[in-house]
Amino acid sequence: MSVIGVPEPRGSRRFHVMTKLDETRWAVVQRRDTRYDGVFIYAVSTTGVACRPGCAARTPRRDHVEFFATLADAERAGYRACRRCRPDQGRVVDASLEAVTRLCRRLEQEGAVDVVAFAAEVGYSERHLRRRFAEVIGVPVAAYARSVRARRAREILPSSPAVTEAVYAAGFGSSRAFYEHGARSLGMAPQRYRGGADAEHIRYTTLVTPLGHVIVATTARGVCAVRLGDDEAALERELAEEFPRARRERDDAGLGPLASVLALAVRGEGEVASLPLDVQGTAFQVRVWETLRRVPRGATISYAELATLAGAPRAARAVGSACAANPVAVAIPCHRVVRGDGSLGGYRWGLDAKAALLRAEGATATA
Ligand SMILES: [Zn+2]
Repeated sequence: MSVIGVPEPRGSRRFHVMTKLDETRWAVVQRRDTRYDGVFIYAVSTTGVACRPGCAARTPRRDHVEFFATLADAERAGYRACRRCRPDQGRVVDASLEAVTRLCRRLEQEGAVDVVAFAAEVGYSERHLRRRFAEVIGVPVAAYARSVRARRAREILPSSPAVTEAVYAAGFGSSRAFYEHGARSLGMAPQRYRGGADAEHIRYTTLVTPLGHVIVATTARGVCAVRLGDDEAALERELAEEFPRARRERDDAGLGPLASVLALAVRGEGEVASLPLDVQGTAFQVRVWETLRRVPRGATISYAELATLAGAPRAARAVGSACAANPVAVAIPCHRVVRGDGSLGGYRWGLDAKAALLRAEGATATA
């Protein structure tokens, strides 16, 4: 029985999507799959109890079960934590995580943030906030801001009347700063990028997995994008923004086999490392990504180790940025990079997704 990662038919509605996601979760509950611990909560209406997916309690009847993303959601709906599997004693929720997340969102919206003022606003010292940020996200605030600005430049360029204006709109102080930081991240000259990916034919499909929705897109040469998210329509919009001039075509039937490979990979199975890729990056990014593809399933590697393997032992931070810029989630396994002390570090698609992927692959990492 494999209901995980069924490709969504064209024009599917939200109700339909939710039903499929629930089917997937139900299958996980039935086989008491502990690898999905932390991915969702199920609650039983007859007992009023909320459980982890792997709870050893008797499997309830399907029509008595409700699913929630988090225990807090279940509690708001009137359920209490199970005394057997103790979903209330999971990962310690740290208030500084919320501050870090808010800083990320602010940087994404504004390109630059006065960190001293922000720290005061959320009640932390600047030093503590910066340290927590680097611990959680994997790169310092400044590096994250640079990558956000480079990304904004990339998003703004295709529709801007002039490259120079785009450079300023993205928050770079000068075109020189842009060419030093932004242009490198594009992997091609800005003038050329403004043309968009002309004449490229991109086919894509979406699937539902325990990690949420996944969109996968491919050119004639290989997979060019794999993104995770909880909104299918948003993923389609992001794809359109990333490849504005390409001819994009939804092809659920043709990409069925590719979707299956990814669905298996999310479960820690199958062979995703052999998929052909067609990704754009700088020479350094590509070197990091190629090195990452050699990290086997079930293993993890630290940013420093990865930097050494990629031939740049002093560039652990730049390696972190290259991981964050990975255009093909899972297919280039940037989720296998953890911090030197074994803690998760950062993940572009969220730490829950990273933890779930590592658990599925049987890797040991602490959250
Ligand atoms: Zn339980």
